[in-house]
Amino acid sequence: MFDNQQLINDDKEAVWHPYSSTNNPIDNYPVVSADGVRLTLADGRQLIDGMSSWWSTIHGYNHPVLNEAAQQQLSKMSHVMFGGLTHPQAITLCKTLVKITPANLDKVFLADSGSVAVEVAMKMALQYWLSQGINTKTKLLSLRNGYHGDTFGAMSVCDPVTGMHHLFEKSMPQHLFSEAPPMGFDRHFTEADIADFTHQLQQHHSTIAAVILEPIVQGAGGMRFYSPQYLARIRALCDEFNVLLIADEIATGFGRTGKLFACEHANISPDILCLGKAITGGYMTLAATLCSNRVAEGICSGEAGVLMHGPTFMGNPLACAIANASIDLLLDSPWQQTVANIEQQLLSALHPALAYDNVEDVRVLGAIGVIEMKHAVNMADITPKFVEAGIWVRPFGKLVYIMPPFIISDDDLHYLCSTLLSIIE
Ligand SMILES: *Cc1c(COP(=O)(O)O)cnc(C)c1O
Repeated sequence: MFDNQQLINDDKEAVWHPYSSTNNPIDNYPVVSADGVRLTLADGRQLIDGMSSWWSTIHGYNHPVLNEAAQQQLSKMSHVMFGGLTHPQAITLCKTLVKITPANLDKVFLADSGSVAVEVAMKMALQYWLSQGINTKTKLLSLRNGYHGDTFGAMSVCDPVTGMHHLFEKSMPQHLFSEAPPMGFDRHFTEADIADFTHQLQQHHSTIAAVILEPIVQGAGGMRFYSPQYLARIRALCDEFNVLLIADEIATGFGRTGKLFACEHANISPDILCLGKAITGGYMTLAATLCSNRVAEGICSGEAGVLMHGPTFMGNPLACAIANASIDLLLDSPWQQTVANIEQQLLSALHPALAYDNVEDVRVLGAIGVIEMKHAVNMADITPKFVEAGIWVRPFGKLVYIMPPFIISDDDLHYLCSTLLSIIE
């Protein structure tokens, strides 16, 4: 048995957690195991996971199929370098990704985390234009309320205000931002919605290498949903102004929004696509950057002749094996029906919150449910209440949101939503 209090104390002594203070450390809850949608804490309590460990554990925890894939691969080789060598799991994964992602994404660069996949995407775009002999296209155009990761390149295209990175402003490359898309998946799109974006492209296209955005769902920068027509229009404008389009589907990929990839809502293909989070079902860290043959050939016919990137753990076989098993598991399941069912339940279960005095908005898309409060949530106050009630939900700012594992049962989802509502009320 673990000593719960000892773990909490030891954790405070040496461990730095995401976006946290070591001067004023909080009690983090020690988790000792997890199974299905339940996390088991060191003190024996169980929590229904509403977060899928930040979008990733779509099949839940301790899944027999994923465990088996990991064990099989472990007994063969858990890692081997990727320079000059290759292996069957990476080959299978890359071929699968090319097949299941939108058209014209032909080449796959495996990376080790979402932020790195974004760095690689940005490098691809910059290198592409350099290779064409165009050295003026050095900027990215990003949308306000966007979030693309925490490394320096990725930070520089996050929303300068909600992206949590304004501290580093003076050390970061300066990119361009246009107004955020107006909210609403079903919103009737008009050209006025995209006027600022269009204006930026008209003004600056000769210096813009690529547009980078999260298709349909802006995640950590605001949990905002927007119209597929808006996305389709961006694709058209990028073509018109000779600018590449990078779609960051690190959060939205693998079914979360009701389509396998959110770009499918708008029937578009980006020139470059970033994947991560759910790619291994939340078992291992792995990400991927895909691009069209046009981009790949463009890059490789330039002065450098190669893409200038290569992480040590690139194409890690253990991660690739689990990704292959996770993608098969998803595609062999009735995932559209599953996600549609979760969406219906979220819609009816979260809707009553709209009547609460402290709630500004309730929105649902696919297996994502968002309650936007009128004021920022006090995390220190609300987190213990969630835990005492047996659910794991981690709000940020004014946003209380859930994106449960797809395997959640109707009863557990009902419990998660009703408990959440009674606490925020
Ligand atoms: C989480 C996220 C990232 C960063 O991924 P990490 O694995 O945390 O580096 C990038 N883009 C989007 C849209 C994300 O949700």
